[in-house]
Amino acid sequence: MSKAYKMSHLPVSPPKLAKFLNSLITFLTISTFVFFSCNKKDTQLKLTVTQLKQLDSLKSTYKFSDKAWEARGLIPSPKAVSDKMEKNINICLEDLISTQSEELSKEDYIDILQDGLGRFNSFDYDTEEREFIADQFAEIAAILRIDFNEQLNIWLYGRLMVFLEKLLHKDPVIIDSINVKCNRCGSTLKQGIIKKENNIPAYWTIVKCKQCRELVLLPGKENVKEMRYFNCYFVKSLSKEEVDSIQRNEKLREINDK
Ligand SMILES: [Zn+2]
Repeated sequence: MSKAYKMSHLPVSPPKLAKFLNSLITFLTISTFVFFSCNKKDTQLKLTVTQLKQLDSLKSTYKFSDKAWEARGLIPSPKAVSDKMEKNINICLEDLISTQSEELSKEDYIDILQDGLGRFNSFDYDTEEREFIADQFAEIAAILRIDFNEQLNIWLYGRLMVFLEKLLHKDPVIIDSINVKCNRCGSTLKQGIIKKENNIPAYWTIVKCKQCRELVLLPGKENVKEMRYFNCYFVKSLSKEEVDSIQRNEKLREINDK
């Protein structure tokens, strides 16, 4: 017996079906048109004078200087590698700057960033270099006020890792939290506490803002056994003594500067 459907097996007669399909197509065409035209209107953006200045200043700054590597606690990469990274980032910055008189959608800007990232073959660079490149793209995205983190994470860690991370970090129960506003972009960085246990000293945490990659200090709380970070990445934890000593040094520097 053949399993193929014959016209007579259809629940609706052919003329009625044709009419229904016609209406459906008309409906879909109209709603798609309405969706896209509304969408387009909502998200058209033109770079502001401030944004252009920021992009221009980033372009004219040598981003991968020995000093910049050392500030990340790293031995500088060979000059030829840094120069290549610099050149590729600057092409992307030029592409963005050249859109100054145009109105583009967020997706258009993401495409330009994605093309920029595509100029880097991630196998040509080691982990530290890739992270430095990603930080530069995050900085550009922050200037554009665009969320480019997912694309950067996929470029850095691969699609599977990003998928697994999402899967594993599903909805933990937060019993308490520490929230701090990022000094640079204003997003709320959060340490969500999942589990507490007695007699654990308070640890301060340095975290990196996911949006703009600024380093921010989160104050410590006692008895935190397990935590999760939101809108930021964990970088380093510090004891009360270390924080005190950093703050003392900053005070001294302030006094010296006066
Ligand atoms: Zn930030």
